[in-house]
Amino acid sequence: MEMTRILVLGAGYGGMMTAIELEQAGQPFTLVNKHDYHYFTTLLHEPAGGRHAFEPYYVDLHDVLRRDTSHVRKDLVIELRPYENRVLTQSGPIDYDYLVIALGNAPEFFGIPGMQEHALLLRSLQTARQINRQIEQAFATYHQDQDERNLRIIVGGAGLTGVELCGELADWLPELAGKYGVPFAKVEVVNLEAAPTILPMLPVELRAAAESALRQKGVKLLTGVAITKVRHERVELHTGDVLEAKTIIWTGGVRANPLLEKACLTTDSRGRALVDAYLQSVDFANVFVVGDSASFTGADGAPLPPTGQAAAQMGEWAARNLINRLHNRPLEPFHFVNRGTLASIGPEFGVGRVQGVNAVGVSASLLKEASKLKYLFRLGGLRMVKQKRGQLKRKE
Ligand code: FAD
Ligand code: NAD
Repeated sequence: MEMTRILVLGAGYGGMMTAIELEQAGQPFTLVNKHDYHYFTTLLHEPAGGRHAFEPYYVDLHDVLRRDTSHVRKDLVIELRPYENRVLTQSGPIDYDYLVIALGNAPEFFGIPGMQEHALLLRSLQTARQINRQIEQAFATYHQDQDERNLRIIVGGAGLTGVELCGELADWLPELAGKYGVPFAKVEVVNLEAAPTILPMLPVELRAAAESALRQKGVKLLTGVAITKVRHERVELHTGDVLEAKTIIWTGGVRANPLLEKACLTTDSRGRALVDAYLQSVDFANVFVVGDSASFTGADGAPLPPTGQAAAQMGEWAARNLINRLHNRPLEPFHFVNRGTLASIGPEFGVGRVQGVNAVGVSASLLKEASKLKYLFRLGGLRMVKQKRGQLKRKE
């Protein structure tokens, strides 16, 4: 009998959870990912902002998917051809019977001229390293040219990514200033937000707590200020003001991986493929789509926001439904369980809402630490928890 060919694309939160579920069910599959490791996107602001070295923030795919039935292929997906049951990769085509697309997101630039060319992003291990190195390099060169733009960092967007990054930077920069002997009084982190408020997904009191924590740490937070144009080391605002900085970072939002739109799948306004209650593409019943690539309508009638917790839950669910399908069992509708939102503002402060209860300060940080441990445990049990926590102690 021919073996059913299951192909999973992307080893982020959605793809990893699909793969782990399939592995645990003894179901053979191939996982294609552009790297041979899985990085913890939800924590990238930490190493980008100098909290730890990068090693604790990624794991070798073979260290998680250890069974012979799990095939991992490091490859770049270049085209989806669902009408041919085929995916094109850099090293050739792959045919499948069932496909799980978990290719994550792409930055949303909203057509702002120059943003793509001149701003750094926080979205992968590589981009997090770029941010970290760029800031350190700028501080290191300050003594050569005394150019104060070396010491200014502009972060566009005060959603959760922007706020978490600024919180982290605020804790790291005094240490970095000391290391390079630069005058800390001249160091500036400017966080620009177009909307009248930061973090609209959180209750007003938590937004206020986050705002005041950022300001206390010295972050210059400007709301109601839209970036309209970016040039080399220069950001233009809707007010006509211009800010100059050696480091410009964009955290202004995401849309789905563009491969989905190119495959002519039915997508929403953010390019995410529409899925039904079972996480199957509305266009192809043998294609499941999960995570930031998927547009799933939640219980409130709105599409789920792109989050790691939704991606992980969808990944697990898609794998289970796929197995149901292989065993001719009925598929089960996906229900998202909202476990809450937690944002760190530096290592020792956070805000969040978990199970209907607000958490502010150290309690939110501790809850966030607990969720990290839970995730590591899910990836590889106590072995993985010990491995990654051990690495935290060492700085590069
Ligand atoms: P991803 O995790 O992005 O994974 C996609 C994978 O596909 C990646 O491994 C990528 O390398 C691979 N890939 C992409 N294109 C190709 C290709 N062409 N070929 C091969 N492989 C490819 N969410 C939360 O719920 N809680 C949080 O605390 C949280 N914190 C965050 C903090 C930061 C700084 C950021 C940036 C995001 C955070 N998020 C958080 C959002 C969360 O990270 C994303 O929603 C989540 O990563 C989406 O999971 P995914 O599996 O859909 O995609
Ligand atoms: P986002 O879309 O949530 O926030 C982007 C922010 O940029 C918005 O507040 C927007 O108003 C602002 N913006 C857009 N255009 C602008 C402009 N021209 N000038 C200035 N500001 C502008 O994006 P994100 O923060 O990257 O989050 C993406 C997804 O990842 C969300 O679903 C979020 O919930 C999730 N996430 C979760 C966490 C967490 O749970 N701790 C952390 C990071 C991201």
